[in-house]
Amino acid sequence: MGRLDGRVAVVTGGARGIGAAVARLLAAEGAHVVVADLLDAEGTALATELGGPSRFLHLDVTDEHAWQKGLARTERDLGPVSVLVNNAGIADFGTMEEQSLTSFRRVVDVNLQGPWLGMRAVAPSLRRAGGGVIVNISSLAGLTGYAGVGAYVASKWGLRGLTKTAALELAPDGVRVCSVHPGVIRTAMTAGFDESFAAGQPLPRFGDPEEVARMVLFVVTEATFSTGTEFVLDGGALAGPPAVVNP
Ligand code: NAD
Repeated sequence: MGRLDGRVAVVTGGARGIGAAVARLLAAEGAHVVVADLLDAEGTALATELGGPSRFLHLDVTDEHAWQKGLARTERDLGPVSVLVNNAGIADFGTMEEQSLTSFRRVVDVNLQGPWLGMRAVAPSLRRAGGGVIVNISSLAGLTGYAGVGAYVASKWGLRGLTKTAALELAPDGVRVCSVHPGVIRTAMTAGFDESFAAGQPLPRFGDPEEVARMVLFVVTEATFSTGTEFVLDGGALAGPPAVVNP
């Protein structure tokens, strides 16, 4: 018997990377998972692998109408949603002076406005489910700055703040809302990063998507006294600077 038997969970950006690992783990715990993504082939293949009532939903998280339509169909077919993982995200590189306004807006649209639309759209369904959990995948970049990814950093700090507001607004309905902050994880998003990127961390390696998935599962099933707060998995990156001071 799983810890999420029969619960309906929507995972955005669920077709690959961290989202796919989350979808697999929630399904392994008995959840009926809706893999929501733009990638039809990968998303459909994953939903088939998950089996049972799990399914793929073509969803652009920046499209308000698509959220309404997708969630209405989900609730009609599977019942009310009790878990939403806002995981879909993009990165685009460039210093403040290099990055175009179009690129800045696109990153913020997907990474911040997307989860905002998702939380608004799912709230009534969560109430009908009698409560639930929203997990917003922020980043280490939602806790510190990084040169060369200003829009990404802004979007992930924004999502962290939005998480706290949503936690306050939805607590009376029995809904917890938390943010998860991964450090560098080996996925398509970091395909161009070499191993030296993690070398200065106390745990000098990239994380695995499955490690993030286990944190998400913990937030959903075990962190019952936590809402509006941050769950960090960063290989110790925030513990302090890597240089050893030797006076
Ligand atoms: P990824 O590129 O492998 O996966 C992102 C998924 O989001 C893809 O399946 C993509 O199709 C989907 N997506 C993108 N735009 C979308 C949209 N508009 N609507 C619906 N789906 C969309 O990357 P990942 O590393 O698995 O990233 C997942 C999340 O984790 C992102 O929010 C990312 O910012 C965050 N994150 C990643 C890392 C890392 O090092 N990989 C670290 C911290 C946080």
